[in-house]
Amino acid sequence: MDLTIQQKCPSCGAPIELREGDRLIRCPYCDVQNFMVTREILRFVLPDKVPEYISKRNIFYAPYLRFKGNIFYCKGKFQKFKVVDTTRQGLTTSILPPSLGLRPQAMGMSLVTDEIKGVFLRQTIQAKTLLERASKLTILDSQKIKAPFYHRAYIGETLSCIYMPLYVKDGVLYDGVVNKALAQGGSAEKMRQNGIRFQKTWTPHFLATLCPVCGDSLAGEHDSLVLLCCNCNSFWEEERGGFVKLSGKCVVSKEEGMCFLPFWKLYINSSGIVMDSFADLLRLTNQPLVIRRNHKERGLAFFVPAFKLRPSTFLTLGKNLTLSQEKLPKGKTAMAKGMYPVTLSAKEAGQALKSTLARAAVNKNILFPKLPKVHFHHLKTELVYLPFIDKGHDLVQKHSGVSLVKTILHFGRKL
Ligand SMILES: [Zn+2]
Ligand SMILES: [Zn+2]
Repeated sequence: MDLTIQQKCPSCGAPIELREGDRLIRCPYCDVQNFMVTREILRFVLPDKVPEYISKRNIFYAPYLRFKGNIFYCKGKFQKFKVVDTTRQGLTTSILPPSLGLRPQAMGMSLVTDEIKGVFLRQTIQAKTLLERASKLTILDSQKIKAPFYHRAYIGETLSCIYMPLYVKDGVLYDGVVNKALAQGGSAEKMRQNGIRFQKTWTPHFLATLCPVCGDSLAGEHDSLVLLCCNCNSFWEEERGGFVKLSGKCVVSKEEGMCFLPFWKLYINSSGIVMDSFADLLRLTNQPLVIRRNHKERGLAFFVPAFKLRPSTFLTLGKNLTLSQEKLPKGKTAMAKGMYPVTLSAKEAGQALKSTLARAAVNKNILFPKLPKVHFHHLKTELVYLPFIDKGHDLVQKHSGVSLVKTILHFGRKL
């Protein structure tokens, strides 16, 4: 579930409400648009109801780590997914609740800023540990399958830190969100002495959304990771605090009312297995096709959706387009009406390659044992917008006939 975040407009200071995945912030008051750049994981604080007689400087904050994402795995002849949304203590202590429960979803949180004068308890549990715990969940989940594990990947993950406010009164530790006594304050005092003040690198900074080539305003939606310049037809993504130009194409269409969906086209070669051409991919996944010369001459490329979808739909769509890539025109440097925002980065798409390959296998028993040996090497990444015809219930890709249920896009936006 998406979290709601209270934030100040970086231009005029007006209060704005954001959702967790939002990057492009358009202020309804001053109408200025800013792109949010994070240097590390985002840090939020739950709203406190600490009594006024407790000084703000005496409030202290306990870290909780939040992981949200999809875990994909192949075991035996099965390909499975698990959606994980978990919040756990970021430090080991028995005096605090192990999890925040539903609080992050139920309350509007704020980003941590230098306005918070209290002390932040040190996070002693690393994000990696949380990931390992999440993957143990998948092992538990998969115990019914008595067969070897072949592959596991995390896709579309978000990791953040949520601070819970605390205070001590008359030697008793209180939960500052609901003012409820938690424990005797002695050990909390010790933790507090070890705490740190606000660090500058914790807060995101903001980029003006102007095209670095022509200076025109870049376009995007609240959750867009890639911004478009409709003046010089260029695509931009943020990297190390600046906008970097992407290799992007659009397969334009003359018909009206098309929906253009973005895909990462990842050109790769591989080691550990012979898979360097489209023909190799067809052969390896046992496609019921006669392999022709043009298949052998076509390099290996995977199509991965550049937007979030439920795990099963995500893989099926990527697999179907990858297998029908011959039918897709190359596209050109152009823009179209109805371009859907990119909400999944190319890096995340790269994590999905083996799972897409696994999805494509007609005979899972033959391919899956080979998966641990496969290593992909990226040659080139391209963003490709493909036209889909709106058929009411479904969206159908114009050239390949590949379809997806329209309402699924709406759900994907909330993942
Ligand atoms: Zn503003
Ligand atoms: Zn431009």
